[in-house]
Amino acid sequence: MSKEPANIKENYSENNNAEPEKRLNFIEQIIEDDLQTGKFGGRVHTRFPPEPNGYLHIGHAKSICLNSGLATRYNGNFNVRFDDTNPTKEDTEYVESIIEDVQWLTGRMFDHIYYASDYFEQFYAYAVDLIKKGKAYVCDLTPDEIRTTRGTPTIPGEESPYRNRSIEENLDLFARMRSGEFPDGQKTLRAKIDMASPNFNLRDPIMYRIVHAEHHRTGNRWCIYPMYDWAHGLEDSIERITHSICTLEFEHHRPLYDWFIDQLGIYHPQQIEFARLALNYTVMSKRKLLQLVKENYVNGWDDPRMPTICGLRRRGYTPEAIREFCRRIGIAKFNSTIDFVQLENSLRDDLNKRAQRRMAVLRPLKVVIDNYPAERTEWLDAVNNPENEADGTRRVPFSHVIYIEQDDFLEDAPKKYYRLAPGKEVRLRYAYYITCTSFVKDAAGNVTEVHCNYDPATRGGSSPDGRKVQGTIHWVSAEHAVDAEMRLYDRLFTKETPDDPQDSADFKTYLNPQSLEVLNGCKLEPALKDAAASERFQFERTGYFALDSRDSSVEHIVFNRAVSLRDSWAKQQGK
Ligand code: ATP
Ligand code: MG
Repeated sequence: MSKEPANIKENYSENNNAEPEKRLNFIEQIIEDDLQTGKFGGRVHTRFPPEPNGYLHIGHAKSICLNSGLATRYNGNFNVRFDDTNPTKEDTEYVESIIEDVQWLTGRMFDHIYYASDYFEQFYAYAVDLIKKGKAYVCDLTPDEIRTTRGTPTIPGEESPYRNRSIEENLDLFARMRSGEFPDGQKTLRAKIDMASPNFNLRDPIMYRIVHAEHHRTGNRWCIYPMYDWAHGLEDSIERITHSICTLEFEHHRPLYDWFIDQLGIYHPQQIEFARLALNYTVMSKRKLLQLVKENYVNGWDDPRMPTICGLRRRGYTPEAIREFCRRIGIAKFNSTIDFVQLENSLRDDLNKRAQRRMAVLRPLKVVIDNYPAERTEWLDAVNNPENEADGTRRVPFSHVIYIEQDDFLEDAPKKYYRLAPGKEVRLRYAYYITCTSFVKDAAGNVTEVHCNYDPATRGGSSPDGRKVQGTIHWVSAEHAVDAEMRLYDRLFTKETPDDPQDSADFKTYLNPQSLEVLNGCKLEPALKDAAASERFQFERTGYFALDSRDSSVEHIVFNRAVSLRDSWAKQQGK
């Protein structure tokens, strides 16, 4: 939709159409306490630190909205920083998509994007400093040997035979590691902490490993690459982040985060952990999403069935709906699974307010209005959005032959069927009452054409004699109709927890074979010919739709259904 937020602040955390924010979440509480005590000099500076090894998904959206929202709320700064320390899995394609997605979701433009790889020289200097302090050593054990000598929760790890090398020898070997003298895996730099620590992360963790691989930004300048735990706190410190927010799995890494920074005596951000987002009927791991793409179970990262931000965008999601979803689910300290319906409801609520209404027939059935002159066309007023008077009206053409939905006609209608049936009268939205007089069937017994008479006195859809009809159906004039393809989506998986670790079956066994339904020869009212890619529409009675940004063209219009009007999943499943 063309209405992007004029003021992000107003639209973000105070976006309270659903309910006002009642109380602070635990992270806001920490920040307010820090502001009170002046811990960071009254500053708030957050960051979003993706590794560029895949596309962003709705889980990342939660982290982006949280961090960006806190910066907005407390008048602080928000960095996008690539944690690009793993050259073999990363790619500039991912870098570009991530920047695009974060800008789209937050409505922010970034003058500067941060990269961990810009700090490699600084990290190296810090490592030399730790060696000089006797807090790091070059180890000749292979990564496998390091793993097997780590011990167990009850048995302390074994100290490396290389642990007590002299500072001079360590400095010399580390410089030679950097200069490329040793092959991959032959040496590592390890922190010298405590092999008996109850926290595994403190049992002399690896800081650097040797990887002779080209990096997407630093090329072949480096052949040693920093490990996540070593690099991450340094990145935060260099950027003077105040609150370094990460997901719960990193709670046991916090002592190491603190240890590195304390040993170096550098600026110390506060790491805070929160529960990651899990959604039912989907998978969120980048590895699994990559598998779906690589093995062609979906049509790319932006397939509208994917939980990726670009997939949701292509499907018709708005940034406002995703931000509202993230606000509604809140921030907690314990993991839980959110119902997919909540995401859909946020979109319904947003588009109900903003999307203009149009008429489109998905599965057309021809209706001939016998008493309406064949050469006549009338242009009738239709309301664009009953939720927003300012959107005004448009004109829709009415004529002798129209299309209605196939399932809006029944030959043998039960009593409670209020749509069209032999002898029954219905209201055509914004047009007339029509009564079915006869119908035509083909050899296979399918109804191919319905004949009706209209009541000229009911123009606009109401009867002067006060006669009531129960049903109102949408329609499109055949002569004026624009053809389109429509893609209807359903859950990507049939099982609520497709990647349940208790389940030995592969998550792909639960792919929903009916997750995509393609309809051709759909009929649109003519105003839709000029639809813009950024617009969202409510097609009366069938759902919210947006043009497909990849496949739609003037010659071949393609609409995606972003979401149906109501949740029908539970009903389908017989729940
Ligand atoms: P992987 O570990 O497989 O590379 P990741 O999803 O952790 O995947 P990152 O690029 O490291 O990928 O994530 C960037 C940021 O997004 C991190 O700060 C991480 O905590 C956050 N994040 C990732 N997944 C979720 C999620 N499901 N809910 C909330 N935050 C998430
Ligand atoms: Mg990660």
